[in-house]
Amino acid sequence: MVNKKGAVQCINEEILEKMSLKNRYSFLNNNLMSILKPEHFNFLKQAQRFFIKFERKNNITHNEDLYEWIPEIGKAGLISRVNNFAELDLNYEPYGMTAEFMRIIATDFFDPQLVMGMGASVLAANPIIFHHENIEERLKALKDLITGEKIGCLCITEPERGSDAVHMLTTCEENEDGSYTMNGEKIYQTNGSKADLAVVYAVSEQNNGNTMAQFLVDTSWEGWSAERINIPWTPRVHVGKETFTNLRIPPEYVLGKPGLGREHLFEGLNLERLGVVLVNAAEAWNAISHAAIYANMRKQFDKEIIKYQGVGFPLAEMWAKTMSLTLAALHICQIVDDKLEKSGILPKSFNLALVAIASQLKSQSAKLSERICYGCANLMAGAGLCDNTIMSDLLGISRIHQVGGGTSQIQDYIMSYALRQLFKML
Ligand SMILES: Cc1cc2nc3c(=O)[nH]c(=O)nc-3n(C[C@H](O)[C@H](O)[C@H](O)COP(=O)(O)OP(=O)(O)OC[C@H]3O[C@@H](n4cnc5c(N)ncnc54)[C@H](O)[C@@H]3O)c2cc1C
Repeated sequence: MVNKKGAVQCINEEILEKMSLKNRYSFLNNNLMSILKPEHFNFLKQAQRFFIKFERKNNITHNEDLYEWIPEIGKAGLISRVNNFAELDLNYEPYGMTAEFMRIIATDFFDPQLVMGMGASVLAANPIIFHHENIEERLKALKDLITGEKIGCLCITEPERGSDAVHMLTTCEENEDGSYTMNGEKIYQTNGSKADLAVVYAVSEQNNGNTMAQFLVDTSWEGWSAERINIPWTPRVHVGKETFTNLRIPPEYVLGKPGLGREHLFEGLNLERLGVVLVNAAEAWNAISHAAIYANMRKQFDKEIIKYQGVGFPLAEMWAKTMSLTLAALHICQIVDDKLEKSGILPKSFNLALVAIASQLKSQSAKLSERICYGCANLMAGAGLCDNTIMSDLLGISRIHQVGGGTSQIQDYIMSYALRQLFKML
């Protein structure tokens, strides 16, 4: 039996066995098999087979350093599926947002904190996909991130500039040879204190978003230093506070000169927020799969607890909400995939419409995932709250998604602005 190794076993052996990764995958597959296209369902099962084998082979207890797993997962092509990465000779199939959704669900069932760590590497890789311009150093960095040879992070947030990300204080100054010198501080970067590579935004004039630039940085360069921040709800994920002291960035690593940075920052935000939606759906399914198995086996007053309306009905309602979110997520993934297949990039008008949709789905799914992870743990009572399963990880991680990728209040702000624009179009 492989399950999360707690200090003391609290859950009965038979139930713990039934909540194995393999059985939770089976529960998920029985839910999704009739709504997925064969290529996506087959990829989901392929990714699941990898993680079942990986967990067994390494006797994983989910207390390990998750970063040590990433190179092997990269070799299996399971770090990102947003692209086929033909330019790196990887040629992944299937690829696109729907394939990415499948990859995220399979990975989340294995280890939710791993999804967060690998996700930040993907956030660093995405801008390089758009702006590598076939420059050798950038292509190498992209390949290292996608194959898991290196860890990445994305540096936007600063100690004094969180939601107000456009008015940055980190500065960049151009040198005669086309390189730049960067000074300043960033904070709360997922993987920040572990990363080998970073994508960093800075401005040539403080508080002026029109002067924003985007850089690829090798963290071994002189002038980079990072401290690890403790986020108690995701204890195995490195989150960093970084200081740049006269950090020199060679010309090959300038992804966007001052003036281009803001556009580059916003271009990635829609897909980043949709990525958070997929993670939220995955976490909700993960929690439901634990609770559904547990409630069908745990007996009190001589009856399986699912037979009591106090347990079975709220569980059914959370299941319905999770399925509704999944159907919405699959629909938007399919639309994005269709557009990308047709024209290779997302048309500007569609990207604009996607701003509100991504905010709507991101804010609602983050709240839903948190409620469902808590609701399932609560129905499982002691078994949901102890450390014998990854329910304890789900409880923690589902509480941070309203903040990362732009807070819920900022999503509300974006949506209310969009409502103003729609009114003005009348
Ligand atoms: C675990 C974790 C991982 C993260 N990973 C990354 C990462 O990889 N890279 C990165 O760059 N950043 C990352 N972040 C930073 C995250 O994006 C910021 O925390 C977030 O944008 C908010 O910034 P802040 O924490 O400074 O809060 P603030 O911006 O100071 O906000 C404080 C409160 O004020 C509200 N508020 C602010 N402005 C408005 C407004 N105009 N209208 C209404 N309410 C408002 C906010 O919603 C919030 O409730 C991460 C954060 C966490 C916690």
